[in-house]
Amino acid sequence: MYAYRAPLRDIRLVVHEVLDLEQHYQSFGREELNKDLLEGILEEGARFAETVLAPTNRTGDEHGLRFEDGQVLTPPGFKEAYDRYCQDGWITMCADPQYGGQGLPGGFALAFSEMLISGNMAWKMYSGLTESAALTIQAHGTDELKNRYLPKMVSGEWAGTMCLTEAHSGSDLGILRTKAEPLGDGSYAITGTKIFITAGEHDLTDNIIHLVLARLPDAPPGTKGISLFVVPKVLVNEDGSLGAANGVKCGSIEHKMGIHASPTCVMHFNESKGWLLGRENAGLSCMFTMMNHARLGVGLQGHGLSELAWQASIAYANDRLQGRSLTGPKAPGKPADPIIVHPDVRRMLLTQKALVEGGRVLCFLTGREIDSSHMNPDEEARKRSSDLVAFLTPIVKAFLTDASMEVTSLAVQIHGGHGFIRETGVEQLMRDARITPIYEGTNGIQALDLLGRKVFGTGGKSVQMMAGRIKDSIDKFGAVPELTPLAAELGKRVEQWGKLTMELGAAAMKNHEEVGAAAADYLAVAGYVCLGWCWLVSAGVAAKKLAAGDAEADFYKAKLATAKFYFDRILPRVDAHAAAARAGATGLMELPAEHFAFA
Ligand SMILES: Cc1cc2nc3c(=O)[nH]c(=O)nc-3n(C[C@H](O)[C@H](O)[C@H](O)COP(=O)(O)OP(=O)(O)OC[C@H]3O[C@@H](n4cnc5c(N)ncnc54)[C@H](O)[C@@H]3O)c2cc1C
Repeated sequence: MYAYRAPLRDIRLVVHEVLDLEQHYQSFGREELNKDLLEGILEEGARFAETVLAPTNRTGDEHGLRFEDGQVLTPPGFKEAYDRYCQDGWITMCADPQYGGQGLPGGFALAFSEMLISGNMAWKMYSGLTESAALTIQAHGTDELKNRYLPKMVSGEWAGTMCLTEAHSGSDLGILRTKAEPLGDGSYAITGTKIFITAGEHDLTDNIIHLVLARLPDAPPGTKGISLFVVPKVLVNEDGSLGAANGVKCGSIEHKMGIHASPTCVMHFNESKGWLLGRENAGLSCMFTMMNHARLGVGLQGHGLSELAWQASIAYANDRLQGRSLTGPKAPGKPADPIIVHPDVRRMLLTQKALVEGGRVLCFLTGREIDSSHMNPDEEARKRSSDLVAFLTPIVKAFLTDASMEVTSLAVQIHGGHGFIRETGVEQLMRDARITPIYEGTNGIQALDLLGRKVFGTGGKSVQMMAGRIKDSIDKFGAVPELTPLAAELGKRVEQWGKLTMELGAAAMKNHEEVGAAAADYLAVAGYVCLGWCWLVSAGVAAKKLAAGDAEADFYKAKLATAKFYFDRILPRVDAHAAAARAGATGLMELPAEHFAFA
């Protein structure tokens, strides 16, 4: 069984050396966000993840949740860890100081959250949803709603959820049926059943604030007739104290493949009192504040699980003795060599390392742009950052969660038969990761969002903007001798991506089905090119340090070697995905549905 160790050296590389967040924040006048402060937070996050959360990860999976009389009881250690997280003030880290938060940048907090996710992803989901719900109330609520709910959500005394899904309405929210009847006093009676609601009921907090999508009586059909409501589990009195129960009941919890310690609830709302958030019939666009935040969070979940799987794999590969190296024994005093001597095992390990470390840069770089989109005093620059975040969100969500499937599956493979049995713990990672490509909009829906809305919806401008950013890095690093081939290769891939975009755009003008047919492969092309960019800038930092004779030469040499591996063995996947994307819709659509299978 592996033990989680926070990858502080690599996190520091990205935070300080690749992205230089201290300089970034100071350029916005946030002098207090200096390296010492950022370091202190990272070190404490590492300690909390390693010593408080990691010990609860396996027990949470094995013990699971108990459902008794409508109550959900969390596994041993969860409440204690949650209370400590709140008491130590971590839960308030990024919230608005007006409501009791500390106002630290949410983009930087991704580095902190990565460690908590690796420590125990199921545990992190409780506070992650509260954070997203609070942000949504803050963005769209009246002062009354904000003052009533935010202080206690920020402090962690109350939790939050997102209630979208119904039994017949998952990806297609336009057909949801939950009703909202005006009560004449500014509130609404919410009636309906939501399914799959994460943390819909639990024993960590005294109250749970549900954000519920529902329809008003005269609402137009489809997504244009959906409104968003704040529906507390327990009503809140004028003085802020808790009042009567609000007719919100958890009917059952699901028995799942993974994340056994996160309750996935059927929630019944029976004339529960709710308050409108945002405008009538504009609920879906308000909910997008929450969904976009949560989508990046799910991408980070994929990354955090990949990190854990990679750690388990490298430890096992150095330990497990099987066979001899093809070039003669490397551990002659032992009955066999460690499996890390075998080229195929190295292929798997380096694939994991390249996807994990490159994925970290992609996540934190997106976080840097999120912060810029809020903090930059220049309006144009804020807009550019916000456009970039919108473009990168489906890529971070889908590409990094698909990568987590590959990385966790490779972890099982590297462990051989021992990976398939429970004792080594890596099968839990594969099970836990499996939900990440599904929830918060399946990866199929993310791909449609990228190609349909973000690319074609902007007339291709978003790709040009992204390509421009990548080309800046190519110009910067192309002259460094050991990086010249990488920069040239990335330049070719950016051209290939641009050409593919134009071709698909032309095809989609003739047949809309071409978008759906190409989207998943297109997202993979975009993801691999963006990760190539991340590896080029990481290699740029490493080359500079090595040229300056840095004492940590081995660390930086390993970075360069991994960058080269990525360019040699992973980036070429772009060719296969581009060919598939170009193959068109006909081959997918011409086979009649009734001819897919014959009895
Ligand atoms: C553990 C867990 C936790 C969850 N937490 C929450 C939560 O907190 N709140 C909440 O509201 N929901 C939650 N969900 C629900 C989750 O977001 C949905 O399961 C997800 O959005 C997919 O919906 P669905 O399951 O109905 O699948 P469907 O929408 O039926 O999709 C089935 C398949 O069809 C594809 N598909 C569907 N429509 C299209 C289309 N137009 N184009 C192309 N492909 C399409 C999908 O990609 C998928 O592969 C959770 C689910 C799980 C399992």
